[in-house]
Amino acid sequence: MSDIQHQQEAPRYSVRYGQRTLSFYWTQADSKTSCKAVIHVHPNGEVEVQTPVGTPLIEAKQALLKRARWVTEHLDEIHERRRHVLTRDYVSGETLFYLGRRYVLKRVPSDDQRHVKLLRGQLQVTGPDLTRERVKGDLRAWYRQRAKEVFQRRLAHLVGQLHWLESRPDWRLLDMKTQWGSCSPKGVILLNPHLVKAPTECIDYVILHELCHLEEHNHSQRFYDLLRYAMPRWEVVKHRLDGMSEILLNE
Ligand SMILES: [Zn+2]
Repeated sequence: MSDIQHQQEAPRYSVRYGQRTLSFYWTQADSKTSCKAVIHVHPNGEVEVQTPVGTPLIEAKQALLKRARWVTEHLDEIHERRRHVLTRDYVSGETLFYLGRRYVLKRVPSDDQRHVKLLRGQLQVTGPDLTRERVKGDLRAWYRQRAKEVFQRRLAHLVGQLHWLESRPDWRLLDMKTQWGSCSPKGVILLNPHLVKAPTECIDYVILHELCHLEEHNHSQRFYDLLRYAMPRWEVVKHRLDGMSEILLNE
């Protein structure tokens, strides 16, 4: 998980690789224990080069060039996936996700007041004059409400497992285009309401990632030690979430 603030604050550079320009943002691992550069290709197509403190820029660029082939393959895959994501029409039969399960959207024209409910594998939007915009707005409100409840519950559960937290931190929902979560400098956790479409273990992973940032702000070795303590198989879960990102972030 890359946090929006890390991406915004980190300096950006680029290198030439054949006909392509690879741009990346550069972060530093402040732990003495890690001694080599790590390259991440994030689901939103951002490339991160993380090096130990004191590494000169030229070495960060060389590290990226060494893995350039792998990086470009990943970027091409992301690009390809994006091309396949269709714009939603919000008509009956479309697939929607909630807590990792698939539901079929069903528009139910009725004189009742508009409302949304889950029923037998369907996500039903009921009411008069169900235009695309209304259905979209109703679903959006429904997801936000569900996100509030689910995240609150998961946070309460997870905070109790982490010895560095004495109380539940402040958190709020924030719509983000490419990020699942973030942690403000004041220690407020921001969670993307779209995350409620993902399986619970993925929600837990994002929350735990941010809770670890309350103790260790950077993506240092110590941060990853905390994360591994909190969720030993976090990499598997992250991989699962990354694979779904495009489709879950597509409103
Ligand atoms: Zn982070």
